[in-house]
Amino acid sequence: MKRIFSAGSILILLVIADAAIAQQAVPAVPGRVEAIYGPFAPIVRAVADTLKQLLLVALFAAPLQALWPAIRRPVKFRSYEFWLDLVYWFQGIWLALFSFYALVDVAVGAMYGTGIWFPWLRELPFWAQVLASIWAFDFLVYWRHRWEHEFAVLWSFHAVHHTAEQVDFLTTTRLHPFEVALGMLFNAMVIKLGLHPGPSTLGFAIYLYYNYFIHTNLRLRYPGVLKFIFVSPFMHHWHHAKDEVAMGKNLGVIFAWNDWLFGTAYHPARWPAEFGLAVPPSQRVSQSYLRHLVYPLQYFISRARAWRAARAA
Ligand SMILES: [Zn+2]
Ligand SMILES: [Zn+2]
Repeated sequence: MKRIFSAGSILILLVIADAAIAQQAVPAVPGRVEAIYGPFAPIVRAVADTLKQLLLVALFAAPLQALWPAIRRPVKFRSYEFWLDLVYWFQGIWLALFSFYALVDVAVGAMYGTGIWFPWLRELPFWAQVLASIWAFDFLVYWRHRWEHEFAVLWSFHAVHHTAEQVDFLTTTRLHPFEVALGMLFNAMVIKLGLHPGPSTLGFAIYLYYNYFIHTNLRLRYPGVLKFIFVSPFMHHWHHAKDEVAMGKNLGVIFAWNDWLFGTAYHPARWPAEFGLAVPPSQRVSQSYLRHLVYPLQYFISRARAWRAARAA
């Protein structure tokens, strides 16, 4: 229980710190960053945001990992995985450089058009909109994540997230750019629902920090009814486990009830021992950022070869 309270209070502090920094970061003169940096302003913003995020998350996750590690292992700094995770952490910078986010915004506009679905939602009190947005982000991520595990096209790029063999808070951002884009397409629905951008942004920050939290290498599982309500680091670590039995299980980020309700919960007595992908050698993923980027291609080539070989046999 002590661990749950410590982790919970640290998480709340983190969200408050994030909101406070966001308030400070808004330039006194609108468009000041743009005026100083001109066309490079989006990149400057991306670098600043990434560094801020890394610092904040490291400040809360590192002590938890040091105090109560779920898996004891040598310091990650020395491993290749650490540097690979850092490359992913900064991925947003070069994605911004290639106008990736602007392109996704164009796709969002083309898909959903203008206008909102339930205008009355904006009349709700601020706190109710925050709660509604947290619920909506979480519900959308459950189904997106589930389809990423069920459909080969989506799995071919979600597999990259599962290549991590040393799961910790840095693993959270190990995402193929296609998955980032898909996430943005889904998340845009929360604004389309009619929720105001203010409470939705706060709801998203809470969702995001909770996502870092469940990846943290922290020995924490929830007792009693709590385990039916919230996803614990224990549950998400099982999601990353190499064991066949846990594949496609524990897909939620904040609320565990979707997993319990839709039959994807896995909550055994022991902790997982090994993390990563359990795939045939032809589908093995090399631990390199560039190889990860082209992995969807490798995946389908290997599947086509297997299919041809089966037909020829
Ligand atoms: Zn997954
Ligand atoms: Zn994960």
